[in-house]
Amino acid sequence: MVKRLTTTILALAAIGAGAHFAFTDEGQWTPDQIGRLNLHRAGLSIPVEQIFNPGGPGIHEATLRLGGGTGEFVSPEGLIMTNHHVAFGAVASIATAEQDYITDGYLARTREEEIRARGYTARMVQLYEDVTARVLSGVREGMSFEERREAIRTATEAVVDEARREHPDLEISISAFSYGNAFKLVGFKMIRDIRIVYVPPFSVGNYGADTDNWMFPRHTGDFSFLRAYVAPDGSPAPYNRENVPYRPRSWLKVASRAPEEGDFVFMLGFPGSTMRYLDSYYVAYERACRLPYQIMILGERIDVMRRAWEGDRELQIRFATTVKSLANVHKNYQGKVVGIDRMDLVARKQVEEAAWTGWYSSQPELKRRYDGVLEALERIYAGMREDDPFLLTAGELLYSPIQSYALNLYEYLLQMEIPEERRGTNYRGEQAEQRKERLLEGPAGYYQPVDHELYLRAAVRGLALPEGQKIATLQHIVEGQELQGYAPALSRAIDEAYASSPLLSPDGRERLLALSADEAADRGGLFLRIAADLRDRRNELNERRQARNRDLARLRQLYAEGIMALRQQQGKMLYPDANRSLRFSYGYVRGYEPKDAVYIKPLTHLKGVMEKETGEGEFIVPEVLQQAWRSRAFGRWADASGDVPVNLLTNCDTTGGSSGSPVMNARGELVGINFDRVWEATVNDYNFDPEFGRNISVHMHYIIFICEVFGASNVVSELGF
Ligand code: ASP
Repeated sequence: MVKRLTTTILALAAIGAGAHFAFTDEGQWTPDQIGRLNLHRAGLSIPVEQIFNPGGPGIHEATLRLGGGTGEFVSPEGLIMTNHHVAFGAVASIATAEQDYITDGYLARTREEEIRARGYTARMVQLYEDVTARVLSGVREGMSFEERREAIRTATEAVVDEARREHPDLEISISAFSYGNAFKLVGFKMIRDIRIVYVPPFSVGNYGADTDNWMFPRHTGDFSFLRAYVAPDGSPAPYNRENVPYRPRSWLKVASRAPEEGDFVFMLGFPGSTMRYLDSYYVAYERACRLPYQIMILGERIDVMRRAWEGDRELQIRFATTVKSLANVHKNYQGKVVGIDRMDLVARKQVEEAAWTGWYSSQPELKRRYDGVLEALERIYAGMREDDPFLLTAGELLYSPIQSYALNLYEYLLQMEIPEERRGTNYRGEQAEQRKERLLEGPAGYYQPVDHELYLRAAVRGLALPEGQKIATLQHIVEGQELQGYAPALSRAIDEAYASSPLLSPDGRERLLALSADEAADRGGLFLRIAADLRDRRNELNERRQARNRDLARLRQLYAEGIMALRQQQGKMLYPDANRSLRFSYGYVRGYEPKDAVYIKPLTHLKGVMEKETGEGEFIVPEVLQQAWRSRAFGRWADASGDVPVNLLTNCDTTGGSSGSPVMNARGELVGINFDRVWEATVNDYNFDPEFGRNISVHMHYIIFICEVFGASNVVSELGF
């Protein structure tokens, strides 16, 4: 039955894609689906084999999984284009208050000046094969989920081993699709030596910052250039001064003609994750619990961090990456909440689920398989809602590196009290020794003003936990106080803890590590007492959470399988949820109507950059760019309007991870680089809304224009101009 159903689904997918072509712009298609999309009718003018050509050259090979997003080769010398925000971590790691590459950007005029982008790798797809049948070959009817998983694991290992033998030079893995209903074998060539070539000033690369993030009209030059290096013999190698630029077989060429409203475009990239095949209970939980909570907590963290570092550039640099990504998610989640309500998504999903239940109930075999799935999902989310208050408070307290350190230390002491063979596997022999060494080094990565403030807020919220879940130490601190005195009392206790905590001195740590867990909790101060309070209940709830996650994996596989089968019967073309694997998406240069009677055009121009300029904060336009504007020295980068196009709106289907994806015209030439979506489209992660589904890209003209204005002529000529 399992096998039969899966096979049916795959067969339906093939038929559906061919027979029911529609000009849909929704879809993050797997590369092996491209050929079935009827793209020439949609507007493509090159053979699809130029886009995806496994084992041979093609646009797919020029598209890289890079950092947290995507990048692409744009020269035969291994030059990579990606987003400013994708390369940001690399720049932040080399910036100091004196050499502030974040603010000023960085330009390597020669190869020698190209600086290592620490921690960055680039992966290109060299092998891509559907191995669903092989991976599921051991799955039999009536197997439990665990047995199924084991059968999949065994088959996966065999497929991977074989591929590794055949392709020792590739990084081989199997990607699961549709919650374990389909599997692809992927072989990546992995480039390990990546260097920074050109990063524009922050005021260009992040123009409009949080105010404009997820918004359109947009005027951000969110691009950067890196370069891939390999060993002199051409093989991928870790960073080494002797390495040479990688010479890719495929790279993208910049279009000679600027895109216009209505033009066909397509993208390749590595979108991270979408949840479009999940159930209404999941969306309801997201809407009512997780998203509002995250919006609250992220808002607080951003606020506290920003205030704490005001006027201190050193600190701003130190926390730059953290706060930037917190702010990005914060605004995204707010958009999601609005989008879920706008689409009435929970109700929509319920309607679909009712139709699904009706459909499978009329077929005894399917009924046996799917009956109870939705009810079980409902129970899981109810359980999560029950456990959340304690787990979230614990999570907030443990956000403090000191508190989290204290819990690790307490756990270590507890484990050391039990015979070695009964300890957790990470607490035996050499591992225990190493753990102790690390504990002796003490907590790292905290900044007291931020830590204190966030801890205090967590503690105040912790007081409101329901009876039976209260944290004894916190209750004890406020005992006998009036309500208004709670926060000051807690604040004093935290201050005291910082001032006298043995965790913060080498001697103190040494002493604590010689005690029993109970003694340490007794004498180790606030953080250790809280650790002792949290430990058991948190472990218990975490175990429950893990059990729930196992159930969720089983139920999601069944639900996705079932709902996909129904959708296919309804004649829909299906693509799997995003999973950070290579995807294709297409659409058109197209504006949108965010509000009644408002039409937002799809192209912005330099004029708009100047209109937003305030000279401070998020809207500073560097003097050279202002000069270029004043002198109208746009060269060949102006479009028909006479101005330089800056950002571009298209209705491709993207999500987090699609950042840095190349946007190409019908001829497969580069017209832009994707970096964002409009705010109304953040809900796409749950369900694509064609009315609002728009992604935002930097126009290639703006990229080259900025390179010229800021003196990166070496980059311009490498791009072929
Ligand atoms: N800004 C996102 C990214 O970093 C792209 C998106 O979510 O649309 O991948």
